[in-house]
Amino acid sequence: MSTRHPHWINGKPAEPATGAYLATINPATRQPGDEIAAGSVADADAAVAAASAAWQRWAAKSPADRSAVLHAIADLIAVHFDEFAALEKATTGKTDAQLKFEINASIDYFHYYGGVIRSFAGRVIEQGAGMHTYTRVEPYGVVAVITPWNLPLNQAARAVAPAIAVGNAVVLKPSEFTSPSTVLLGRLASQAGLPDGVLNVLLGTGPDAGAPLADHAEVRRIAFTGSVATGKYLAGEASKRMIPTTLELGGKSPIVVFADADLDRAAAAAVNGIQVNSGQVCSATTRLLVEASVHDEVVAKVVARIETLEPGTDFGPIITEPQYARVLAYLDWAAGEGLTPAVGGGAYSTGPGAEGFFIRPTLFAGVEWDSKLAQEEIFGPVLVSIPFIDEADALRIANSTEYGLVGAVWSGDVARGLRLAERIDAGQVAVNGGALTNETPFGGFKNSGYGREKGIEALHDYAQVKTVSLNLG
Ligand code: ADP
Repeated sequence: MSTRHPHWINGKPAEPATGAYLATINPATRQPGDEIAAGSVADADAAVAAASAAWQRWAAKSPADRSAVLHAIADLIAVHFDEFAALEKATTGKTDAQLKFEINASIDYFHYYGGVIRSFAGRVIEQGAGMHTYTRVEPYGVVAVITPWNLPLNQAARAVAPAIAVGNAVVLKPSEFTSPSTVLLGRLASQAGLPDGVLNVLLGTGPDAGAPLADHAEVRRIAFTGSVATGKYLAGEASKRMIPTTLELGGKSPIVVFADADLDRAAAAAVNGIQVNSGQVCSATTRLLVEASVHDEVVAKVVARIETLEPGTDFGPIITEPQYARVLAYLDWAAGEGLTPAVGGGAYSTGPGAEGFFIRPTLFAGVEWDSKLAQEEIFGPVLVSIPFIDEADALRIANSTEYGLVGAVWSGDVARGLRLAERIDAGQVAVNGGALTNETPFGGFKNSGYGREKGIEALHDYAQVKTVSLNLG
């Protein structure tokens, strides 16, 4: 039975002004699911008005009081773990393992920021005798958070936790494809003691709900995760009101494997890069750069691992129908060019994979570094391998796209790994499987965006600095 999800505004459900609802679909079965409010300008106005009225009182609370609410939200998400998993599964088709990872990380965002906010403060600036000068880290007020469909709850938690920890109020616009779990987050936040209006969930499409939210005069900061095109549009709109943005956009990240690396571990990491969420993560390492002398050996290891992957068990479907069509269009383009994948390629015609928007995990081996497959973000389980000659060649190819989100290096020579880490244009680089967690700042170079989510850096992004100076004379 399908449920209708209204907005969550000012601590309660809010029917859409137009009365209209949008359908969602389960990408693993293609069956229709819950409906979500079709937000419009009037709803965006109501959500921003609630946030505007709420943030100052929330910001005036002590960090310890705000911290207690964040921990309570984390605890309530944990209590409702199964409900979140069911809602997310119904709109994303994710595997149970992937859901467990994302929901646990979401819980942890609230615990983490609930912890660090108690030590977050400005600083005292020494100017010699007679002056007492210090900085304050103040909230912006109303922050618009616009999230995509690939990690719905997780992306919401990643932005909301630091934003409200600092004392902002948030209007959160989730993707119209995957909204129900975000509505539950809003409801539980209120139940956990977050004052009404501090977290509002506005539903609807990008143009109808997201655009009027981003354009609202009282929104003082925008945090956006999504496509480069929408990111550029929002940055343009924000510039008209001189408000800052955090933009977490696409990637075409390299995983660089030298001949002296542990090739089995490197191959496993390469497969993991397209298996996790079926490659629908902006940080996916989708270009496998391999030293030429071991290229074919690594490709064979990757192919062998990919051949064991089963749809529905080891990886989920493509989450939206338009994205499914986009990935298939890349594969069709490759076929038209006479490019044959070493493994995978295309949709499933029989079995569980055929029921939903599943794409076979795919590797195109030995592609040119400047080919379309090696340059454009596909956002699906598609890996390309590119042989390189030496370290300089590897670096040149690694940096040869418009993106700069993540890099991975595998080498038995650790100094070489760190040398590349210094030179790869990316917001974060992992050497020999180094981990990225909630504590590590995350964001892009180049067209992958700017600003940092996660880590203490995110608190700085959601705060503006004020200097106060007192003349003691
Ligand atoms: P994708 O192509 O991955 O769906 P989008 O950038 O289109 O990425 O969507 C990411 C988020 O941005 C979604 O919540 C979507 O509704 C929203 N969005 C899309 N277009 C706009 C817009 N013009 N203004 C504000 N939000 C938008």
